[in-house]
Amino acid sequence: MSRRGQVFGDPVKAPEFDRRGFEGWRQRWWRLTGFWPGVDRLGHLVALEVGILEVTEVVQDWPPNIEAIRAVLPVTERNIFAYGGKIYSPSRGDLSRELIAHERVHFQQQGDLVDLWWEMFLADPEFRLTQEIPAHKAEYTEFCRNCKDRNRQVEYLRSLARRLSAPMYGGMIDFKQAMKAIRG
Ligand SMILES: [Zn+2]
Repeated sequence: MSRRGQVFGDPVKAPEFDRRGFEGWRQRWWRLTGFWPGVDRLGHLVALEVGILEVTEVVQDWPPNIEAIRAVLPVTERNIFAYGGKIYSPSRGDLSRELIAHERVHFQQQGDLVDLWWEMFLADPEFRLTQEIPAHKAEYTEFCRNCKDRNRQVEYLRSLARRLSAPMYGGMIDFKQAMKAIRG
């Protein structure tokens, strides 16, 4: 169920409805703003806020490929996993909007090739980093959208940079590089 959210600037008149172009535009818009845009009754492109918490299914269990994940990564119950359009979260069902924004980037990356994505993610730390940077960026963007306090934003950015530079993600970059990568 989507509900009308904030509209950014003046609605843009859609000149011709080009579904493929529109989908690409939607993806970019969502990444930038955290809003999922649609077309309103007047044919204007507007930003509709998706009830992200309602539309993302959170399963309180381990993901189907947990054994493969365990073989490579130091997994704990606190971790959450994107798999086939669902978030698997063994220890809790109430995930923050920031975490959901993060996992939704992984859904987009996985597309229809969920198992292949996971194979590459586990086998290649460099690939893992290329997938985690945009996910962490989206998480940070979502936090900044919900919290305008600069100090708390920096605090959140630092916690993300600690996570991104930790062994969980292969220790591919250090803390400072992670800060820079997430802030963009
Ligand atoms: Zn991730």
